[in-house]
Amino acid sequence: MAATPSKKRIVIVGGSFGGINTAYALRRKLRDRVNITVISREAEFTFMPSLPWVVLGWRDPARLQVSLAGPLAKRGIRFVHGDVLGLDPDRAEVRTGGEGFPYDYLVIASGAELDYAAVPGIGPDAHTQSTFTTAEAAAARDALARALRLDRGRIVIGAAPGASCIGPGYEIAMQIDTALRRIRRRHRFHIEFVTPEPFVGHFGVGGIGKSGRMFEDEFAERHISGVVNAGIVEARPDRLVLASGTEHAFDFGLVIPAFLGSPFVRGAAGLTNPRGFVTVTPELRSTKFENIYAVGVAIAIAPPAPTPVPVAVPKTGGMTDLMALAAAHNIAADIAGGSRVDGLTLAASCIADAGDTAFWLRADPFLPPRNRVQHKRGKWAHYLKAGFEIYYLARIRNDWPPLEFGW
Ligand SMILES: Cc1cc2nc3c(=O)[nH]c(=O)nc-3n(C[C@H](O)[C@H](O)[C@H](O)COP(=O)(O)OP(=O)(O)OC[C@H]3O[C@@H](n4cnc5c(N)ncnc54)[C@H](O)[C@@H]3O)c2cc1C
Repeated sequence: MAATPSKKRIVIVGGSFGGINTAYALRRKLRDRVNITVISREAEFTFMPSLPWVVLGWRDPARLQVSLAGPLAKRGIRFVHGDVLGLDPDRAEVRTGGEGFPYDYLVIASGAELDYAAVPGIGPDAHTQSTFTTAEAAAARDALARALRLDRGRIVIGAAPGASCIGPGYEIAMQIDTALRRIRRRHRFHIEFVTPEPFVGHFGVGGIGKSGRMFEDEFAERHISGVVNAGIVEARPDRLVLASGTEHAFDFGLVIPAFLGSPFVRGAAGLTNPRGFVTVTPELRSTKFENIYAVGVAIAIAPPAPTPVPVAVPKTGGMTDLMALAAAHNIAADIAGGSRVDGLTLAASCIADAGDTAFWLRADPFLPPRNRVQHKRGKWAHYLKAGFEIYYLARIRNDWPPLEFGW
């Protein structure tokens, strides 16, 4: 699409839930009044909620990806496969290695860096597995398959201090239990869940209604030992070491790391909190720069209450979708006029899969105190999650409008 002086230039960094949904929503709302560029380090969109199924060997990772260039080009959105290395808010420009991209509006949807370095020995280059990319999940799958071939074994699923995305750890622990029971070898394996949360089912948000009791009961029925308030300080080749001095030996160990904001965001003075997450107003606009918005994992959300070992607030895919729509709505209002919306006080729904059943949780709003919470458990939720994967990938391919909102 040729640039004309009257068209606003919108640059979006990130090609995942936040970036793609913002780009599509902006195109729908502003049509040809804007030039939209999406810059992403990866050429594909990956449906990360299904990565735990890759770890279990229940999904081919290739099935979870959509190549971005084609679908974006069809909607007149420029796609740049590149790594943003710098942001200069005063010149209103981001830079990849070879090119500068000036903008009228910037949307930061760059998620997080995985902070494996914070705990010596964790991470796929060291002693524990992880599940944030298809490559990590495939490596974890192979390591798990090796461990399950042992005559007996110890499985430890953990999360580092300050982790926020702990939900997949719950899923993997319960799915391994399901897989072992299916082959009648559960009695040969010990499964531990080692978490910084103050109670099982806290999820970084103080729990969702009775989620603490629910997951405590679920773990009891599945014989999964929950170790809470755990500050993992080191991983050795066969064990996790906690700040309390206790050790948790494993044949298969998977540890979810804490997150840091992207380096290019951390480098821009005044844009972020100390961990590198963009501080935003309820309209998802940077508290410092009027023409910068941020959505999804990239934004700063303070924990509802302190915990003995730090746990950060998760930003789920569902929340990120809604933030993308809200940011697009507010940028459209900046450009074309109209009402503005609050993209921070969100309701969130999530399905935690256990392999043989699943939990559907909804919190409105996401952080307490809340107007409404709902939880349901059943095999239907497992199938709903599987169906949602197919729907969501088709939605990214075809720019289907999302299901549950009015903006
Ligand atoms: C294993 C797992 C299971 C999950 N399960 C669920 C679930 O069941 N339900 C749910 O709602 N959510 C789930 N989530 C969370 C969900 O995946 C995230 O909320 C969502 O991915 C956040 O989207 P995002 O766009 O903010 O960031 P991300 O998905 O992290 O994407 C960031 C994007 O920015 C790009 N990028 C980063 N830095 C740069 C740079 N410097 N230059 C260019 N591009 C850059 C990346 O390549 C990527 O495209 C899960 C997450 C994981 C990892």
